[in-house]
Amino acid sequence: RHVVSKSEAKASAEATKRLHIADKEIQDKQKVLDQLRYESRKQYLSKRKEDKKMELEAMVRDEEQLFSHEKLTEREKLGMEYRKQVLGYVQKYDEAGNIMKIQRYHVPDASTKSIPSTYIEEEEGLGGDGRRWEEEQFTAAIFKPGAKDAKRKDEDFDLLLDETIDFAEALQMPGTSEELTPQLTSAEKRKLTIEETRKSLPVYAFREQFIEAIKQYQVIIIEGETGSGKTTQLPQYLYEAGFCEGKKRIGCTQPRRVAAMSVAARVAEEVGSKLGSTVGYSIRFEDCTTERTMIKYMTDGMLLREFLNEPDLASYSVMMIDEAHERTLHTDILFGLVKDIARFRKDLKLLISSATLDAKKFSRFFDDAPIFQIPGRRFPVQIYYTKAPEADYIDAAIISILQIHLTQPLPGDILVFLTGQEEIETVQEALTERIKNLGSRIKELVILPVYANLPSDMQVKIFEPTPPNARKVVLATNIAETSVTIDGIAYVIDLGFVKQTSFDARSGVEYLNVVTISKAAANQRAGRAGRTGPGKCFRLYTAWAYKHELEDQPIPEIQRTNLGNVVLMLLSLGIHDLVHFDFLDPPPHETLVAALEHLFALGALNHKGMLTKLGRRMAEFPCDPSMSKMLVASEKYECTEEIITIAAMLSVNAAVFYRPKAMIIHADTARKSFWSPGGDHLTLLSIYNKWKETNFSMQWCMENFIQYRTMKRAREIREQLKGLLERVEIEPKSSTDTIAIRKAITSGYFKNLAGLDKSGQYKTAKQRHTVQIHPNSCLFEDRPRWIIYYELVFTTKEFMREVMEVESNWVQEVAPHYYKSGD
Ligand code: ADP
Ligand code: MG
Repeated sequence: RHVVSKSEAKASAEATKRLHIADKEIQDKQKVLDQLRYESRKQYLSKRKEDKKMELEAMVRDEEQLFSHEKLTEREKLGMEYRKQVLGYVQKYDEAGNIMKIQRYHVPDASTKSIPSTYIEEEEGLGGDGRRWEEEQFTAAIFKPGAKDAKRKDEDFDLLLDETIDFAEALQMPGTSEELTPQLTSAEKRKLTIEETRKSLPVYAFREQFIEAIKQYQVIIIEGETGSGKTTQLPQYLYEAGFCEGKKRIGCTQPRRVAAMSVAARVAEEVGSKLGSTVGYSIRFEDCTTERTMIKYMTDGMLLREFLNEPDLASYSVMMIDEAHERTLHTDILFGLVKDIARFRKDLKLLISSATLDAKKFSRFFDDAPIFQIPGRRFPVQIYYTKAPEADYIDAAIISILQIHLTQPLPGDILVFLTGQEEIETVQEALTERIKNLGSRIKELVILPVYANLPSDMQVKIFEPTPPNARKVVLATNIAETSVTIDGIAYVIDLGFVKQTSFDARSGVEYLNVVTISKAAANQRAGRAGRTGPGKCFRLYTAWAYKHELEDQPIPEIQRTNLGNVVLMLLSLGIHDLVHFDFLDPPPHETLVAALEHLFALGALNHKGMLTKLGRRMAEFPCDPSMSKMLVASEKYECTEEIITIAAMLSVNAAVFYRPKAMIIHADTARKSFWSPGGDHLTLLSIYNKWKETNFSMQWCMENFIQYRTMKRAREIREQLKGLLERVEIEPKSSTDTIAIRKAITSGYFKNLAGLDKSGQYKTAKQRHTVQIHPNSCLFEDRPRWIIYYELVFTTKEFMREVMEVESNWVQEVAPHYYKSGD
């Protein structure tokens, strides 16, 4: 037996003591360091406020001088008058002398948003046919799958469909409780008042506890099943509990614009106010809030931009970072920023809400913040897999929809997860066609699309209750995974794919491509079927694929995307040490470097990595750095009017043309009539200008197979961009010189230069990446020697979308650092 001598014991005790002392010293040093960091950040914040104030005062002085100028033309005077109005917003200070929120975007009239204020009455109107609905319920009860009558139905269905998909049933996704009484069906809900609906949501029972918790803690992590009422109810509870006293607001971020808009509309209705007054939203290019807005929903990207004007979020009392589990790039950056702000602003409450079980990770990041769990209600969902892989998943989806519609009882709506707007439109068209052929032999099927760029009048439709004796089929992107909850879904069809950006830092190439989803996402999708009663989820992939081909968790966006945009934003917030920024999960080092290099090439950074004046001007635009640079560069080439049109048309990011199947030839002829020799950018410009000549006519759009909605949105974006020009002091000039216009575009997008090589293939100029012109492009057949593209899309090949012809020496003119002559 080893005996410890006295001296040994003493030595060991001393060593332990020394260790303790060392530990303590380290801790103390850490504290001092932290303190220093906070101090410098605090100083920075107050300095920034000072700078901003002085900057604005200088602007106002300049303006005043200009106004005293006698020899202004009428038009210039009008322009000045407009600026004065804009500046009017800018000059507002609160009692403490801080600059108040700057109203940067125009406030659309909420009444044009076509959000019915008499929603409930309308619902009741629809539900008038109560008897038929009851009958439907009755028959539904008889046609239980497996019952004898169901078999008869199956045969019926075989006669109607020439092909079917063979599903294997595998496992059941357990619900939280088998004994749940089914939630109200949407038909029953119709009869409920808003108040009753609010009370029927799972969060309602935890209202008091929640308010208590937020009073006690500064940061709370909320975890609760999708649809439990986090997004719509929690901000309202806070508002009702007096968190808006002292003119402070409650903010809530959403990763997607449709979610921000539709939730705001719903909450405005619940609060009983017009959208844009007590409850409002703010998304890129559209601010629907006023001074009186108390609950503000916004995209995460917009909150990030708000930091530029208000680095301490002074106008908010509570900030809810919602859908935290989505881990979008902007949300991830917000985590670091709000965590930092919360240290200075002890009065600011933070809510981090998530639909999945990442809560622990968030809690750890936010210094072990308490987790507030809202017990979920989820009914069991039966999962079906295809027995063999599906070659054409679009076709498989269409067949599955019909299969469900013909065999499954009513009510019970279908939710289909597709990857994007184009795909949704394809399915919608094909489905409509098939239903038409089936005629009156089947019950009515209401088809509703949901995707990120869905126009607001169509957003309302998705929440309308299904008419009796009909079935709703919602064709959605992953937006319906957690952001948007549609009631009454009993069947989910999951294709297993999602569209994602991915960035290859080495080549600097960013793609938009379709990838398989993660297991976590697949389970979220399935869960959507079990919200109001037991449901079924049809996965259009095999059980083997689920097990072996899907990752467990999705990769956070910050680790797979181009960071140019946020790096520019962080730099303009004065955060220079990006490597040590408090990231929940840090981005790959090379991605950060690539972003800095690109900003440098654009002229936004100097050799020391500091923002240049150009960089600061670029940061004023809510666009990615290339587009911002193009906008600023348009001043030099005196073609700003044209460039903002092109930027707006590129930003709508939706198809301008439509090609109805029956009239493809007509549509293509119409499309070709717009083709401009310089390429797609100039084609977009000419379409917009021709539309403008018709005084923005809808008729004209229809005649030319152009999507009126897309154009209308482009027009709105253009207005916003035009308003922003004021802030960077650009007088918009107009030019017809297509070379000047293309040079301005080149100033922003020189990185996307591609040229024909000897073998007749396009290769990107810097990295020698093989790419193709998209068949939709007007240069598809021309194949000019040098082109610049707007974006790369990866489908079967790497396609360049929106391309224009350039001369190779232009890039040396606009980006001498990037392209040296002879490159
Ligand atoms: P969570 O954020 O927990 O996922 P939500 O607050 O978004 O839950 O949803 C609560 C309820 O409000 C759901 O039943 C959903 O269908 C409903 N809802 C949300 N937005 C709208 C809307 N625009 N119109 C009608 N109902 C809506
Ligand atoms: Mg939500």
